[in-house]
Amino acid sequence: MKEMRVDALTNDMVIFAEDRTKRPIDKVNTNDEEEIVSEYEKDCPFCKGNEKYIPEETFKIEDENGWVCKSIYNKFPIIDQDSENIKGVHEVIIETSKHNKTFYNMNVSEFENLFTVYKNRYESLSNYKDTEYISIFKNFLRKAGASLQHPHSQIVSLPIIPPEVNNEIEIAKNYYDTNNRSLYEDIIKEEISYGKRVIHNSENFLVIVPYATKYNGEVRIIFKQNIKLNQLKIDSINEISNIFVKLFENLYNERGYMPFNLFIHTHPVKGGTEKYYNTHIHIVPRRYSFGGFELSMGVYVASTNPEQLAQRLKF
Ligand SMILES: [Zn+2]
Ligand SMILES: [Zn+2]
Repeated sequence: MKEMRVDALTNDMVIFAEDRTKRPIDKVNTNDEEEIVSEYEKDCPFCKGNEKYIPEETFKIEDENGWVCKSIYNKFPIIDQDSENIKGVHEVIIETSKHNKTFYNMNVSEFENLFTVYKNRYESLSNYKDTEYISIFKNFLRKAGASLQHPHSQIVSLPIIPPEVNNEIEIAKNYYDTNNRSLYEDIIKEEISYGKRVIHNSENFLVIVPYATKYNGEVRIIFKQNIKLNQLKIDSINEISNIFVKLFENLYNERGYMPFNLFIHTHPVKGGTEKYYNTHIHIVPRRYSFGGFELSMGVYVASTNPEQLAQRLKF
């Protein structure tokens, strides 16, 4: 049976056609990359011991043996301070000093370090005079756009509010102006009460498979608090780090060593969007790609049943 749904955060239209997974093409084995075993690679610019390859860090977390997580300027930035009409800063966050770590095997304290660096860099890049928006994202494996294997995320400060975020903010603002309630708070309440799409519900975060998403198999984490990323308290960093360990363990059991993109939709630096827009994280598997129908129509086709996927990932 086919069904059309609309993603309430983005207004994306999605047609559910679950039987399309039975198409012969989907049986073709798509080779994923091999998992990395070695903790150190002599040619990797991000490995501990190879610091000669990279510029000095903008921020780092250390333990008794030196740095464990740090942020550096990207050697090949999307934009920089010399750009003509789009000035910004592009940093790379080296998530751990160990080459063979991934979101699928990182522990709670490693995620805590990473979120602490996200928070610090969001705060610091907010203070640049041109910054309007801060983009935080991660590409995992070549198929998701990663050029280096060593575990890393990226952060870019922008002098604009990008269209995808602007669209979400407009939708949330219209909802607030019309209903005098927050769209995000309503979604949080409805999803918890319906329950079937909830992967995990903790004090400050809700992890769901969205009712509809243009990204087949997406998992979404919504912050319950009306706060900017730099206002994350240490307890919440611990809470979300525990969630990441368990979520990625379950994602690995479901899909194996899957390439993915992760992006945090943060608040614009200026203006009071907190009352109607909540920070959230999109985790998008990269096993499915758009075809001509999606690209030409802006209508998306999904084959993954959100309710069933949520039940399999639940913890
Ligand atoms: Zn490395
Ligand atoms: Zn979003």
